[in-house]
Amino acid sequence: MGKCFLAMIFLAIPTAATELTWPVRCPDGSERGCLTNISYPDIDGDGHDSGCTLVSNRAHTGTDLVPTQNSVDAGVAVIAASPGKAIFMQDEMYDQCPADHPECLPASRRKIRPNYQGGYTSCTAQGQYCREDQQGCFWCFSGNYVVLEHEEGIFTSYLHLKKGSVAVTPGQTIEAGQQIGLVGSSGNSEGPHLHFEVWKGGLFKPVDPWRGDCGEPGAIWDR
Ligand SMILES: [Zn+2]
Repeated sequence: MGKCFLAMIFLAIPTAATELTWPVRCPDGSERGCLTNISYPDIDGDGHDSGCTLVSNRAHTGTDLVPTQNSVDAGVAVIAASPGKAIFMQDEMYDQCPADHPECLPASRRKIRPNYQGGYTSCTAQGQYCREDQQGCFWCFSGNYVVLEHEEGIFTSYLHLKKGSVAVTPGQTIEAGQQIGLVGSSGNSEGPHLHFEVWKGGLFKPVDPWRGDCGEPGAIWDR
């Protein structure tokens, strides 16, 4: 009897900790009222999203939330999806991509190294948040971004943010629902949108948060 009770407790913990709230808030206060499109991930690269629908962006690892230009001009808030700690951020990149601007162009791949900044790419220092098999690793991102670390080995990343909008610094404790930036179009971006990713078990280990017949077990959001 006692053993059963303990097992139930252990099973319940991961579910509660991996709950994620919606990562944007429209100028009218709604979650989705300003969005014109939601593009779902295709993490396994089979060409289908969690709802078994064909995707236009094969093997895309994030959810793209696309607001109207008017709402982006007014300010679409990017919201921490879970409490945790900010680990990486960038706030100084040009944010009207695509455009004829050096910070809208790809970096030269052979120049990529720790702390590299070129084109729309900026890379972290060496050795931060490496997995055991990745000693001396570093991480590169596109445009302005925030990466948060949560409990249970969960991370979330928020890309293409507006220049000067990032409201967190690395090491800062973050509450769920806290505004961390504004939707923009910095980096490798075809227009204003939030690229939102959920990682589990380490950095750049994406999982699909969306439920569906072709979704992953343990997904948490209804389409
Ligand atoms: Zn995206």
